[in-house]
Amino acid sequence: MITGNLRPSRVLVDETAILHNLQHAIGQLDAGTKLFAVIKADAYGHGLLRVARVAAAAGAGGYCVAILDEAVALRQADFTLPILVLGIIEPETAAVAAANTIAVPVGSVAWLEAALPVLQADPDLPKLRVHLALDTGMGRIGFRRLEEMNAAIAFIQAHADQFEIAGLFTHFATADEKDTTYFNEQVAKFHQYLAALPNKPEYVHVSNSATSLWHAACNGNMIRYGVAMYGLNPSGHAIPETPYPLEPALSLVSKLAFVKQIHAGDGVSYGVTYRAAGDEWIGTVPMGYADGWLRRLQGFHVLVDGQACEIVGRVCMDQFMIRLPKEYAPGTEVVLVGQSGNQKITLQDVADFSDTIHYEVACSLAERLPRVSVNPIK
Ligand SMILES: *Cc1c(COP(=O)(O)O)cnc(C)c1O
Repeated sequence: MITGNLRPSRVLVDETAILHNLQHAIGQLDAGTKLFAVIKADAYGHGLLRVARVAAAAGAGGYCVAILDEAVALRQADFTLPILVLGIIEPETAAVAAANTIAVPVGSVAWLEAALPVLQADPDLPKLRVHLALDTGMGRIGFRRLEEMNAAIAFIQAHADQFEIAGLFTHFATADEKDTTYFNEQVAKFHQYLAALPNKPEYVHVSNSATSLWHAACNGNMIRYGVAMYGLNPSGHAIPETPYPLEPALSLVSKLAFVKQIHAGDGVSYGVTYRAAGDEWIGTVPMGYADGWLRRLQGFHVLVDGQACEIVGRVCMDQFMIRLPKEYAPGTEVVLVGQSGNQKITLQDVADFSDTIHYEVACSLAERLPRVSVNPIK
């Protein structure tokens, strides 16, 4: 993907906001509990290496990523903190993980059996550090029965030159909801597994952002802190109260590329789903659904000069049109997410209009949009 550095559409990332969110989260932890910064999917669209650097400066104890490539990218950029991949990696790639001291989750004996010969093929490899994944109700990855977990532990003990147990974890399906019934069932199951372990591993962890914010008593000795680091409330609107303020880090800005006046009946964009009611000033913004500014955002608005301007006509792949309150010069700033005058548009607003969650809006922003740091940390 070619990044549009010569185009004025940009994602602005406020490093100080991320630093503050991390410092607040770390300040709430019990002594000895580590925060692993979840920076999967290009740090939820905020930029992998940039956020990795801010997290290290804030005192994070490690990183979580989704896929092995993201972990390798961190090692290639000389990040030395512990890294945990959250998804199951291909057993054929286990040697890449071991060679780069990258920990991976294990949820079946079959995976260990498949990875074993790959690791045995190179006797110089360090041991592969694994976190036992427990499926206590998320239904995604992990052991679903105690006997399966115990069989995996026995297998690892029998192949202690290749594998080392570094952690035990689970993931909650409803930590961001007001009703805690299902959450409590998952906690109870996790404690059953934990009680059955002969030795507690180095890391015992269950908390995503929502759990760390609203169920901190469960934390264990590590949290996997993601969306709240970027200043977003994991629950959306469900639980507005947070123990510390969350500062949103991401803004999305562009500039008017073209401005014209149209007249009653004149059509705008594919399918002519919009016609001017009278004399109207129309601005064209150089961003579209190829940038992650979704086609279904027709009818939503952006900010120009502190005023909301409706998106009129269909959003195209690379451009969309807005109705301006008066003539503005090409080059005038357009705020798609962020503050303009005393008006604000949040990722949550965009998510609400497009019937999704802010996580999806943030990580749909394409690589074509350059990421630019603002308020950089020292
Ligand atoms: C993505 C992810 C997290 C982080 O979740 P947030 O809601 O962004 O804090 C934590 N744990 C696992 C297993 C994940 O996949």
